[in-house]
Amino acid sequence: MLERHPARTRILATLGPASGSERRIEELVRAGVDAFRLNLSHGDPAERSRWVRRIRRVRRRLERPVAILADLRGPRIRLGRLPEPRRLRRGERVELRPGRAAAGGALPVDYRGLLRDLCPGQRVLLRDGRVELKVLERGDRALRCRVVRGDTIDSHQGVNLPDSEIRAPVLSARDRRDLAWAAAAGVDWLALSFVRRAADLDLLRRAAARAGLEAPVMAKIETPEALRHPEAIVAAADAVMVARGDLAVELGHEAVPLVQKDLIRICRDHAVPVVIATQMLESMVDSLQPTRAEVSDVANAVLDGADAVMLSGETAVGVDPVRAARTMDRIVRRTEARLFRGRREPPPRPGRAALSSSPIEAATVHAAIAAAREAGARAILAFTETGRTARLASSFRSGRPLVGLTADERSFHRMALYWGVRPALIRRFRTVRQMHRHAAEALARASWLRPGDLVAALTGAFSRTGATNTLRLLRLDELAGAGGGQRREP
Ligand code: ATP
Ligand code: MG
Ligand code: MG
Repeated sequence: MLERHPARTRILATLGPASGSERRIEELVRAGVDAFRLNLSHGDPAERSRWVRRIRRVRRRLERPVAILADLRGPRIRLGRLPEPRRLRRGERVELRPGRAAAGGALPVDYRGLLRDLCPGQRVLLRDGRVELKVLERGDRALRCRVVRGDTIDSHQGVNLPDSEIRAPVLSARDRRDLAWAAAAGVDWLALSFVRRAADLDLLRRAAARAGLEAPVMAKIETPEALRHPEAIVAAADAVMVARGDLAVELGHEAVPLVQKDLIRICRDHAVPVVIATQMLESMVDSLQPTRAEVSDVANAVLDGADAVMLSGETAVGVDPVRAARTMDRIVRRTEARLFRGRREPPPRPGRAALSSSPIEAATVHAAIAAAREAGARAILAFTETGRTARLASSFRSGRPLVGLTADERSFHRMALYWGVRPALIRRFRTVRQMHRHAAEALARASWLRPGDLVAALTGAFSRTGATNTLRLLRLDELAGAGGGQRREP
């Protein structure tokens, strides 16, 4: 039921034309990919539906947990259509006008609130920050700007407004269509781009529920506005992505390494999984080798304590997606080996925010991690309905195997994003005793766990989420017979 899977930091890979075939998907999973991201900004829905069906077949065939994440475009502002690429020169004056198509010499921007939300002195960035405009004056129908840094621009490129408070709706009409697709496809996770505040996530949850999808929500942090209240966003999210591309454009590249570390720390404190994304092995889009700087970047994210690292163009459109995934997996495992080998495990420290929001649960999980360490338990078993207990246990970053056992197939796949969790699918039983016996038997068949191994088992009030309150330390074969009562060691 569980094969040995030594990498703890998870790999999230973006699917695209280079990786959508069933064969490629299977190779990627075998190479160490734990979750696939479908970027809803690109590609055609029918094709994406085929990809989802292929992922489902592969994960069933391999009996492996693999999460499917649909990434919504969110309030992304873009240029409209230009008749041809246009070169902007430093010092030149240009006009920006809300709309989809060029009118006169003005550049169209697909945002109605353009004239309302921008003020003189604020910056407008195009082409990932390579072009910078400064607003000089707000007219009735257009913004007059001066080119501070010039380059060639083209239709539909992204527009960043780092100095302005944008009031574009959280979900566009397009996002709502994409959400209907995600609901029909039954994805495991939703991600929202350009999250600005915690309330955006509730709005998405409600819209998803109306579309018939109940999925955990990942907040992509990529604007200065989100960084004004990161704690509130993290507390409201089921997971976070540090989307470094737009973050670097809006904040300046040099700010990103420390923002990454700060966000990982906040997420760990809340026991919220965090993904590091964008250009991790970027040169592998065209090349078979990463640069040393990229290798360091991935290793550093692992050392920072990220739950997952992400591949974007490397797997979506790269020359060799499987090689990129293998490269990432090797870097992750090599770096983790140093983290855990021959080092005495430090006493676990619970995330303060997690402890204060659900004290009984967090304290019980804390006790399990501490007890497993003191008693030298071989593994921690988290019986979980939604994956929440496994997520809390994962946040301690213990080096010990952590098994998330669930009877819910969606939770099984969702847990594939959690650091160090080995999801296990068990049958649903009416009593805790039956469930334990079944789990113990199934785990004893796994090659890495023996019937006589000591385990720390976490359970709660049966079939209720958020109710973990019981820790038992016992041998795996005792779990099979233990039932409700506590057995004493002879
Ligand atoms: P985001 O800002 O959401 O990350 P992006 O445009 O940077 O968007 P990624 O998902 O990071 O896109 O993927 C990197 C590249 O891979 C994109 O520029 C795009 O060309 C390509 N790509 C991704 N998904 C698809 C797809 N479904 N179909 C075609 N190309 C894709
Ligand atoms: Mg982005
Ligand atoms: Mg990207």
